[in-house]
Amino acid sequence: MADRIIMLIFDGIGDRPVKELDGRTPLEAANTPNLDRYAEEGVNGIMDTIAPGIVPGSDTGHLALLGYNPYEVYTGRGPFEASGIGMKLSSGEVAFRCNFGTIEDDVVVDRRAGRIKEGTDSLAEAINEMDFDVDFVFRESVEHRAVLLFRDHSLGPFVSDVDPHDDGLPLKTSKAIDGDTSSQRTAELVNKFTEKSIHILSEHRVNVERQKKGLPPANVILPRGAGSVPDMKPLAEMKGIKSAAIAGIPLVRGVCELAGMDIIEVEWATGGLDTDVESIMSAVVDNVDRYDFIIVNIKGPDIPGHDGDYQEKIEFIERIDVSLPILESIENAYFAFTGDHSTPVTVKNHSGDPLPLIIKGDEVRVDHVTSYGERSCATGGLGRIRGSDLLNVLMNLAKRTEKFGA
Ligand code: ZN
Ligand code: ZN
Repeated sequence: MADRIIMLIFDGIGDRPVKELDGRTPLEAANTPNLDRYAEEGVNGIMDTIAPGIVPGSDTGHLALLGYNPYEVYTGRGPFEASGIGMKLSSGEVAFRCNFGTIEDDVVVDRRAGRIKEGTDSLAEAINEMDFDVDFVFRESVEHRAVLLFRDHSLGPFVSDVDPHDDGLPLKTSKAIDGDTSSQRTAELVNKFTEKSIHILSEHRVNVERQKKGLPPANVILPRGAGSVPDMKPLAEMKGIKSAAIAGIPLVRGVCELAGMDIIEVEWATGGLDTDVESIMSAVVDNVDRYDFIIVNIKGPDIPGHDGDYQEKIEFIERIDVSLPILESIENAYFAFTGDHSTPVTVKNHSGDPLPLIIKGDEVRVDHVTSYGERSCATGGLGRIRGSDLLNVLMNLAKRTEKFGA
């Protein structure tokens, strides 16, 4: 009988040696008795999510981990964010991530409109009522974030951002990149959309109220990250497995949803440092009988990575470790423990450094590695693999792969 597959993705877990930790990485410095035991019982390796030295985003990283070629399906972040907040998309449409921002005389004075928390639904409603050249949907997300979708299949995704990416800079004019003609039209449309958003939002009662209270008005929509909705073959069709995902952040949910996976809702899986790791692990146990494959994204370690806070990263890794033993009640399964990219505290951003990987299950070729870390795993029996091969490696172990040839 075929076994089940469970992939635990610790977002941004990989790191570099830190001087203050006597040259250890946060993972090496963390106290992780459970992960160390899994390394001892399992087979270990090091993984380049996309390819050696390529710096993955969480979106392209997860695409690779699910066995897709990100260079084929990825043109920008927009569609994955849109899908992640529950928008229904059709391939070829163009989506943007957006911010509600504050503009004064063509200068974006606050590209988050004071991290506006209330009223964005009313603002979005007003935007959606405007006359426009193509069918579109605009939807608010958390705080100042939103998504814009052009429901038109003739548009290209290769356009520069309207969002200036920093406060105090003038609004940018979107342009087609490399003079792509179908993207030329997209650039014209998104510039017009932004212009119209200013007129509609400036007069809106939500903003009149905000200004009375001395708060910055959310009087402009700032689109960025254009991408066309990819035509992704469902994972069920590609690999013949029934699969589901647990992910706190919309971006990763969106990737999994566009891959046709079910999303398992976990109430306190927030995608922040306050996320409830225990509930996430319980949800895996509760749902394991319904699926052949479950992927779990735990966003935590990425956040202190971006902040350059090695102490916080160590603490979060230790919290993950404590939550893991509940998974040991699951039988007939192969587990992978790894990440989607490194987020070194010394870099304060994602990097192309490879990730430590443990595979644990009944019939793995147990190696000599006895701790979970970037350097210890690199000496293990799996050697160095690519992220897009991981699911195949697990499917082979779980006896879910058909013979190639006779
Ligand atoms: Zn990530
Ligand atoms: Zn990140």
